[in-house]
Amino acid sequence: DCANSIDAALRGRARRVIPGGLWGHLNAANLPEGYPQFFASAEGCRLRDADGREFVDLMCAWGPMVLGYRHPAVEDAARRQAERGDAMNGPAPILVDLAETLVDMIPHADWCLLEKNGTDATTACVTIARAGTGRRKVLVARGSYHGAAPWCTPSLAGVTAEDRAHILHFDYNDAASLQAAAEDAKGDLAAVIVTAFRHDMGRDLELPDPAFAQAVRAVCDAAGAALILDDVRARFRLHLGGSWETIGVRPDLAAYSKAIANGHALAAVTGNEDFRDAATRIYTTGSFWCAAVPMAAAVATLAELQRIDGPGHMRAMGERLRAGLDALAARHGIGIRQSGPPQMPLLLFDDDTEWRRGSVFCAAALRAGAYFHPKHNMFLSCAHTAADIDLALQAAEEGFAAVACMG
Ligand code: PMP
Repeated sequence: DCANSIDAALRGRARRVIPGGLWGHLNAANLPEGYPQFFASAEGCRLRDADGREFVDLMCAWGPMVLGYRHPAVEDAARRQAERGDAMNGPAPILVDLAETLVDMIPHADWCLLEKNGTDATTACVTIARAGTGRRKVLVARGSYHGAAPWCTPSLAGVTAEDRAHILHFDYNDAASLQAAAEDAKGDLAAVIVTAFRHDMGRDLELPDPAFAQAVRAVCDAAGAALILDDVRARFRLHLGGSWETIGVRPDLAAYSKAIANGHALAAVTGNEDFRDAATRIYTTGSFWCAAVPMAAAVATLAELQRIDGPGHMRAMGERLRAGLDALAARHGIGIRQSGPPQMPLLLFDDDTEWRRGSVFCAAALRAGAYFHPKHNMFLSCAHTAADIDLALQAAEEGFAAVACMG
């Protein structure tokens, strides 16, 4: 009974001491009926909520979990580093190992900075681009999410017009709108920032059109501006060299976080020689940015992703999920659309005002033991096996049956 659950009691307590019960995108108030807010534990691709219900997880902590929750090799590396020290007066030697690993792994990268969150990384990229070019304007795709800082947060509460004064918009995958925005920037263009693919919440995902990606590169080259790839969400799932390696377009600066350390708090910026001096001149730091434990976790995570071809495994599991969902929907006569790279899938229902069908699907699948999301892209991990995908599909069968009952 929901009303008597541990989750409900925790939510009640949280509402008193935390504004809105929880900040940001992890607030379960945005999810269908029955979704838990609090989790007791996780292992592999299984989540257990505060009431002890277990789910096959298709959200992977919204991206960070890429190898599996509590992955033994990652947690061993983290524990060994923790026994020696974490936040100290300066970094541990592992910083240099990690920086070398990233620079060797990423074709465009000549250097890197390490931070904590995706917003730290995208914001540092913008600052470096402005410092390097001596210009102000930054082109951002309309609706793209780049983080929670005043220059990019989706809520305008507490944001001033001045915070956004030098942001200009274009439409993702629309080269003409990009060129028009670049012209509006006149001689003042510092950067174009783009996500790996179009993953705005609640609408079909769109892979980057290679011609559009080349146009982004050409606009930046013509203006002497920085191409910033915001790879925070997609990084380490599509291609280990960077998500636009799949289409052969290289950024000048790139931002990563989420999956880089399999759930430990870490973000990174990589850049090329053109922006090394600017990255030296800006002032950027944080109390925990040199903490060693997440860096040890990252070195172990990247080694494991390379060893097992993580992107290949996630692609195969994503394709199995996609084929299974298509077959189930067809059997129930329900119109669905699946989009995005298989490693980061999205399932939307046809004629679905306010995602009502999606919500009914998700609520029923959750009761049957699988954690789907009705409108945000989901995430596969290296811990998902074919058997786990099949369990998720069994739960999805309940979801489609519930949607079929809606008429
Ligand atoms: N950029 C993209 C594309 C993201 O998906 C996110 C996080 N969802 C961010 C930036 C911001 O990352 P963080 O929440 O770690 O600050």
